[in-house]
Amino acid sequence: MAPRRNWAGNVHYAARRFHEPASLDELRRLVADSDRLRVVGTGHSFNRLGDTTGDLVSLAALPGAVELDPDAATVTVPAATRYGDLATHLHERGYALANLASLPHISVAGAVATGTHGSGERLGSLAAAVAGLELVTGEGDLVTIDRESDPDTLSGAVVSLGALGVVTRVTLDVVPTFALRQYVRLGLSRAALDAALGSAYSVSVFTDWRTPALREVWLKQRAEDPPPEADWLGTTAADHPRHPVAGLSAEHCTPQLGAAGPWHERLPHFRLGFTPSSGEELQSEYLVPRTAAADVLAALDPVAHLIAPVLQVCELRTVAADRLWLSPSQGRDSLAVHFTWIADAARVRPVVAAVEERLAPFAPRPHWGKVFDVPPAAVAATYPRYADFRALAARLDPAGVFRTDLLDRYVPR
Ligand SMILES: Cc1cc2nc3c(=O)[nH]c(=O)nc-3n(C[C@H](O)[C@H](O)[C@H](O)COP(=O)(O)OP(=O)(O)OC[C@H]3O[C@@H](n4cnc5c(N)ncnc54)[C@H](O)[C@@H]3O)c2cc1C
Repeated sequence: MAPRRNWAGNVHYAARRFHEPASLDELRRLVADSDRLRVVGTGHSFNRLGDTTGDLVSLAALPGAVELDPDAATVTVPAATRYGDLATHLHERGYALANLASLPHISVAGAVATGTHGSGERLGSLAAAVAGLELVTGEGDLVTIDRESDPDTLSGAVVSLGALGVVTRVTLDVVPTFALRQYVRLGLSRAALDAALGSAYSVSVFTDWRTPALREVWLKQRAEDPPPEADWLGTTAADHPRHPVAGLSAEHCTPQLGAAGPWHERLPHFRLGFTPSSGEELQSEYLVPRTAAADVLAALDPVAHLIAPVLQVCELRTVAADRLWLSPSQGRDSLAVHFTWIADAARVRPVVAAVEERLAPFAPRPHWGKVFDVPPAAVAATYPRYADFRALAARLDPAGVFRTDLLDRYVPR
């Protein structure tokens, strides 16, 4: 049954009705008969983007197969497929996705709708791997948008914020399967941040804003590449597995200490086998130009004393530029500055405001699925294709079936 609240428990869905259609026809009838409808993926977003006062729909019961097309190097999946399940399926057949987010439990359609990303200077967001979509529009029509026949519309439709229709199937690019090793290094100086971020296939830097130094670097590097030297960038090697939040058990984290393993058991920080039912946390994240990394950290220094008391961990990642109209990494190689806060919205909210004020000069783009309050005009100003997206939403959803308050504020009709 569709969930009544999000994973973090900070959003209780206001929907009057919950649905789990068992067929495409049933879904199309639901959309055609509804005046307000939103879809919930796995509910891992931290704001009300996925909420509605009307019909809330989960696609978990919609039938559909995973279809691998080796000639096109793509895989087509039902929208509600979790990345972790898809990854296992692909790896068993000799294929991989180029990148994954930190958690493998999120749904494909929900992740790409918000521009979810992993890390890697040469790796685009998860949304950038989308080669095609099938969706039910506001009038209940089933349409397909793909890269071959209409690349520009696809660029507008992938990071959709759920405003364009109910995505039923997603086609993703695949690559040959590969192996990685994960190393954790301790105590990175800020001066070495740029070098660290560019030093492996995927890199995450964790810190806590208690000191200017950066606490840990997680390197996810190709298995065939040599391990970091003993004094790599002035850091030391962790001698036991770590959790991103200092002091928590690493039991649920993917293997570290340089053990080689398949891509999908190293790229996410957390194991698929561990299923967190709820999380005692809130998250915010802002994408800024990659070249501004040092200046962004310096800009946040004056509010470090506000950040630290409500922070579980801060993570710095990189995302390669893409062409997707509302993607936070659209048109610019990005540094993603992520905050896992304590689960206390009243204490976190003023700190989010302080962070946003300090980041304002860097044209920050908030992660669409997390907690943010950047003025809508400032968000819109960072997206060159913003007006085109509004026009696309008006075309695919003329009656505004998929509208919701957060959309009305940030992408009004
Ligand atoms: C522990 C944790 C770790 C995370 N790690 C990362 C990370 O590494 N990188 C990152 O970028 N983000 C991360 N996130 C954020 C997360 O990836 C996004 O919030 C993502 O959108 C969640 O996917 P979901 O399936 O839960 O979507 P939901 O939260 O269920 O939905 C998100 C949006 O997509 C829409 N939607 C969902 N399915 C459909 C559909 N079929 N058709 C149309 N619209 C749809 C919903 O209406 C909603 O607006 C993390 C979140 C958590 C809780």
